[in-house]
Amino acid sequence: MGTDTARETTVQERLYSVADWYDAESLLTTDERRVLARLRDFLDAEAKPLLAEYWERGEFPEQLARPLIDLDLMEPAELTGPGAEGAERTPARGIYQGFRVFELARTDASLATWYTAQAGLFRTAIRVGASAEQQARWMPRVIDFSLKGVFSLTEPEHGSDIAGGLSTTARFEADPDGGTWVLDGAKRWIGGASTADVLAVFARDTADGQVKAFLVDRQAAGVSLEKIHGKTALRMMQNAHITLTGVRVPESMRLHNVNSFKDVAAMLRAMRSDVAWIATGIQAGAFEAALSYVTERQQFGRPLGSFQLVQEKLARMLGNLTASLSLVIRLTEQQASGTYRDQDSALAKMQTSLLMRETVALAREVAGGNGITLATDVARFHADAEAVYSYEGTHDINALIIGRALTGNSAFTR
Ligand code: FAD
Repeated sequence: MGTDTARETTVQERLYSVADWYDAESLLTTDERRVLARLRDFLDAEAKPLLAEYWERGEFPEQLARPLIDLDLMEPAELTGPGAEGAERTPARGIYQGFRVFELARTDASLATWYTAQAGLFRTAIRVGASAEQQARWMPRVIDFSLKGVFSLTEPEHGSDIAGGLSTTARFEADPDGGTWVLDGAKRWIGGASTADVLAVFARDTADGQVKAFLVDRQAAGVSLEKIHGKTALRMMQNAHITLTGVRVPESMRLHNVNSFKDVAAMLRAMRSDVAWIATGIQAGAFEAALSYVTERQQFGRPLGSFQLVQEKLARMLGNLTASLSLVIRLTEQQASGTYRDQDSALAKMQTSLLMRETVALAREVAGGNGITLATDVARFHADAEAVYSYEGTHDINALIIGRALTGNSAFTR
């Protein structure tokens, strides 16, 4: 009862007092804002107190996983209809999904990345790659997290050039049960793999040379996972190096709508939009932490925030954040109307990440020496931003996608 009243209060007020300068949250319905307020309450009460400690330990706070899943954020019942047996449920709107990522990233980039590994990457792999029959079988379990999955595309020797370079192989062996695929190769950087049920693995068919996708049981014979240690960004998020040696996958576990890298590119288009929302949310978190710091900290007998040079930095941070938010909202509208192209999400990912890098650096700067300690929050955003800047297509690769669309000339060398 007490908690419900607190949520109502939050919904009556604006969710973002300063960080959302142009009141973008007015695009959300009251029900959507209520769900986001529920997430906000949880993050403030349960997650925030753990972040600095777990970041330093380089571990994910697993105790947050189940409660976060139980918040029913992916397709919340109150946004998608009654869900009566057999009834069609309307998917949650893109703008809600964007703000959900924004809210998570505003608290912590690893939490946002952990959530989007399932709600963005894996769900997109199933939505784009699975046949209608496979989707009917798997999607409800993806949405309620009872089938946890990850997106395994990048390889140790192939990151930016994965489209042409992908070297993990899939060899088909016919048998009376519809056939079996044998996978060999390695994957790198795969987020959330150690706790997943299945790995969506992209591999090149030795017969036709095309990229195909497979749901591989994480515990299958021939699969081995190794944690990537020593990261200086997204330390809470667990990333794995995966080795696949003669891993056998039944044909029924191949994603039937993935027949070439073009189908993978359609997935990346959707994922880059999520990352642009993450890059925007990180700016909100860093900006708010910096604003709070300069309001409290005094030098020369006055709050830091009263100095002109500090105010200029605050204004730049807010400008970057507001530009990013405007960009992702427009992209989300384009997505909803089905008109967005590769270059549109590439532009959003590239530009929000670029602005994020400046915003977190300014936030760190105005916090002075304390800005490099975990105590002020800005240090965590500053460090984590580097991973977001590079994953889902680096700055350069997204720029080349845009450049190709602008000029008609591909500058990729293969
Ligand atoms: P490289 O491709 O080696 O690039 C190095 C540098 O060279 C970059 O600056 C790049 O822009 C530049 N460069 C490369 N080619 C060109 C060119 N033609 N012109 C100009 N410059 C160029 N992958 C997954 O599949 N699943 C995941 O869950 C996942 N999670 C990740 C989580 C984290 C924290 C990180 C860091 C990465 C993750 N990745 C994941 C991989 C990520 O997508 C790759 O790191 C990214 O695509 C870049 O590849 P790379 O690291 O091999 O860099």
